[in-house]
Amino acid sequence: MADVRLTGVKKSFGAVEVLHGIDLDIADGEFVVFVGPSGCGKSTLLRTIAGLEDLSGGTLEIDGRVVNDLSPSDRGIAMVFQSYALYPHMSVYENMAFGLKIAKADKVEIDRRVRAAATVLNITDYLDRKPKALSGGQRQRVAIGRAIVREPQVFLFDEPLSNLDAALRVKMRYEFARLHEELKTTMIYVTHDQIEAMTLADRIVVLNAGVIEQVGAPMDLYEHPRNLFVAEFIGSPKMNLIPAELVENLARSATVRTEAGDIVTVAVDASSGKAGDRVTLGVRPEQLGLTEPGSPITAEAVFVETLGNTTFAYLTYSGLAETLTVQLSGTVRPKTGDHLTLHVAADQAHLFGTDGNAFPRP
Ligand code: ADP
Ligand code: MG
Repeated sequence: MADVRLTGVKKSFGAVEVLHGIDLDIADGEFVVFVGPSGCGKSTLLRTIAGLEDLSGGTLEIDGRVVNDLSPSDRGIAMVFQSYALYPHMSVYENMAFGLKIAKADKVEIDRRVRAAATVLNITDYLDRKPKALSGGQRQRVAIGRAIVREPQVFLFDEPLSNLDAALRVKMRYEFARLHEELKTTMIYVTHDQIEAMTLADRIVVLNAGVIEQVGAPMDLYEHPRNLFVAEFIGSPKMNLIPAELVENLARSATVRTEAGDIVTVAVDASSGKAGDRVTLGVRPEQLGLTEPGSPITAEAVFVETLGNTTFAYLTYSGLAETLTVQLSGTVRPKTGDHLTLHVAADQAHLFGTDGNAFPRP
């Protein structure tokens, strides 16, 4: 078990800096998920922690010890990649034991660790099989098993579920949650999938172009995104972002006018802005209600999806390039062409200033 502390961590490849000074404290036993769009630096950050890449600047500490110059094998970490490359000619048992054998561990100890890991991962029945006789999910478990037997202080996972089909991903997601509950070891998990991030993380780190946009518990990011980037990235379907003009900015509430002319009041402190500012009103699809309370806006349905338990309506709204997405109860089934009056509750809507940062709640 160990905590991990990054201070001003930078990484360049040649002249190109891809990590621009990352500060992050990960507590002992925490499950932290790095999430962000492709190419934002998630893998580079993880590989830097693993020691597979040198730091270009800053300090990395694991369990209170500066490890900048330590080799990967001396850092007490184990990493699992998306492509799990098992040795095809070895059994599951041999695959899991291999690293310990190379490290000249005691045979009895190797056996104890392999069997313990197999029990945790529910692969005890497959120990004698070769990888080709396993399903994709079972193979990924063996790859995780190889990491577990090393009894690391920190697990690093780089998109471990990306190669699996959708149904298996859901199942394995649960397995990771269970694994963490059982082992209680510090885990750092990289994904571009915000649902994986939301369901697994104690805390999510949202990365964008080599900088941290926000760190927080999943619901904290969902309910209090710090800026437009996080607001758009966290949540599926996405938050509706409506261009608007600031009309009144009091300390406890702000009023905006959308391009369609609707007047919406939001419970934020927009005193740092000024009337006339171009701002962005943010409302999640499930927070646009057909009933009061809230400021009404009217839009026309152009497409309706009835999923049974839920109805999604997509509406045209002046000023929006894309449609407005509304999530309604499954019993509500508007038709294409219907004009819906939707209510924006003041304490649920978000307001982002001209700089893209959210105005705080009062
Ligand atoms: P992510 O995992 O978030 O998709 P990466 O960490 O793989 O992103 O990459 C971040 C950026 O660093 C990308 O622009 C990528 O092209 C660049 N990069 C990654 N590894 C190397 C490398 N070995 N040499 C040069 N550029 C690299
Ligand atoms: Mg990556």
